[in-house]
Amino acid sequence: MSPWLSLSTGIRAWSRAVGPHLRSPRINVWRMTTPRLYSTNISGHNANSHEDKNASGGFGKAPLVIAASVASGSLGYFLSERNAKRNSSLNVPDSPTFGSPNDFKSAINELQASLATESVSTDPEDLRHHGFSDNDYHPTLLHSVVVYPQSTEDVVKIVKIATKYRMPVIPYSGATSLEGHFRGHSVGGICVDLNHMDKVLEIHQDDSDLVCQPGAQWMDINNMLKKKGIPLFFPIDPGPGATIGGMLSTGCSGTNAVRYGTAKGEWFLNAASLFIFVLPSGEVIKTRSRSRKSAAGFDITKLFIGAEGTLGIVTEVTIRLAPVLATSVAVVQFPDVKSATAASMEVINQGLGIQCVELLDGISMKATNNYGMSTRKWPEKDSLFFKFQGPSAASLKDTAKAVERIVAKHGGTGFSFARTEKEAEDLWMDRKNVYWSALSLIEGCKGMATDVCVPVSKLPELVHQTKKDLEDVGIISSIVGHVGDGNFHALLLFKTDEELAIAQKAASRIVHRAIAMDGTCTGEHGVGIGKKKYLVEELGQGTVDLMKTVKRAIDPLGLFNPGKLYPESNPPTSKSHSATSTN
Ligand SMILES: Cc1cc2nc3c(=O)[nH]c(=O)nc-3n(C[C@H](O)[C@H](O)[C@H](O)COP(=O)(O)OP(=O)(O)OC[C@H]3O[C@@H](n4cnc5c(N)ncnc54)[C@H](O)[C@@H]3O)c2cc1C
Repeated sequence: MSPWLSLSTGIRAWSRAVGPHLRSPRINVWRMTTPRLYSTNISGHNANSHEDKNASGGFGKAPLVIAASVASGSLGYFLSERNAKRNSSLNVPDSPTFGSPNDFKSAINELQASLATESVSTDPEDLRHHGFSDNDYHPTLLHSVVVYPQSTEDVVKIVKIATKYRMPVIPYSGATSLEGHFRGHSVGGICVDLNHMDKVLEIHQDDSDLVCQPGAQWMDINNMLKKKGIPLFFPIDPGPGATIGGMLSTGCSGTNAVRYGTAKGEWFLNAASLFIFVLPSGEVIKTRSRSRKSAAGFDITKLFIGAEGTLGIVTEVTIRLAPVLATSVAVVQFPDVKSATAASMEVINQGLGIQCVELLDGISMKATNNYGMSTRKWPEKDSLFFKFQGPSAASLKDTAKAVERIVAKHGGTGFSFARTEKEAEDLWMDRKNVYWSALSLIEGCKGMATDVCVPVSKLPELVHQTKKDLEDVGIISSIVGHVGDGNFHALLLFKTDEELAIAQKAASRIVHRAIAMDGTCTGEHGVGIGKKKYLVEELGQGTVDLMKTVKRAIDPLGLFNPGKLYPESNPPTSKSHSATSTN
């Protein structure tokens, strides 16, 4: 068992023993196993300022805490009421009419009466952990209450209460999303933490699929299949700790996308998927059957992939699995990003057995040397990390030979092919450690991750322009690309608030540049709060309006994860946010 998963299991057992109100077990996994990210992230300073120093926490003081959390939403409520009156019908979801602070108090009382005692928490520490994230730089916004459903029936009860009292509902699971996706709303709301719905319900080995609850983590699923000796795995690989519900809702992907596609692709997740959704009306629907193919109408499943919790709550999912094949790893250096990209395009277009192609620029390789965890000293040049896959060791060697020939044509040097499984793991670990390696470049720095995607042929130009821009403004950055997909992340390093402001402006310029190249503001992390301002520029007003029309049809009261994904016509004033935000 990997250290990630053994920790995860232990922490979950602990969490169940002490009660769900203490903290989400997933968050604990993330923080405990990535101490560098946790200890260096700027968002940490938000959190304490929210704590109610007088509240002792726990359910014994619940009525007091409920009053405080409801009161904190009052200002936002009155402002939202005012905005709602100004809106045209098209803008209904932008500023819906939420219930009053007293309504929210009644909703919390009703939640406490309807669910198990330990499933409803207004503990300030719990609210704090669910209203901010170590992984991004968006302002903290607290929820009024956190609920921990155990079943679809619990979710239905929660949604019905939210609807009755017009209270925002924010689904929450792995909490690894990077764009403020699960922040609270300025009026407050119900955070639905799905981490206790994490069971695998059915495994259909012959059909290569599996039915699970939304809180199941992709890494746990793969570990469980391996332990059971089932030679299948789920190949969508975003951040460690991500769950199936959150992955589906962000439309995520990862290093394996070049071979298996993304959560939005036909190959996996939705091709043979059956999702059970609780809609804002409290109605439970299945989007399709478990059969591998279906031509029965248009694809409702897809509507929910990437909806970021704004259309309903996923309570059950069928995911498609892929056969586990032999893999190995090779690394090669190039004179520049352009030749590395050209080599990767030729390799992919040959149809060779490639599972991943990752670009690490010269600065990332320097950082890898600097970090000191690698088994070797790398040339500090733009490099490609290949993961090969095939039915046998011999097929991997054949692929390696073919790739070595192709990369040499593009100026590739120092081709290192792992001869053993251990060597392959060591090489790949250097790719996996790249975030923490980059942070070692400047002592005490923090890192802001960007995420854009362009047609692969445009990637060298985008990287070139970005590097020049960052040099001009004096920001040190490492660049990592899922080069096979044209998706790249620059990790912008900074120490001071002034540098953060410069980095944020540079990140915005990267997005505009990518969109101008027929690319997207987000290849895989999703929109959340952070990217919604780019949606019209990327998709056009008509497409964004159509999204809003769909949202309005499914969620006419605008209760589901309000303020995320859809660009507002009347953005909330900063004053309305100040009710519960800190930075
Ligand atoms: C170190 C690190 C590396 C990462 N690498 C990648 C990567 O390579 N590729 C990538 O795509 N992403 C990556 N991410 C981002 C993140 O892992 C993904 O966005 C992931 O899909 C989020 O899943 P989650 O379970 O953490 O969801 P959360 O963060 O809990 O939620 C995400 C969104 O989904 C909604 N939601 C959650 N559960 C449900 C549900 N049951 N029903 C309806 N809505 C729901 C929430 O309201 C929210 O809007 C990385 C993150 C980190 C920290």
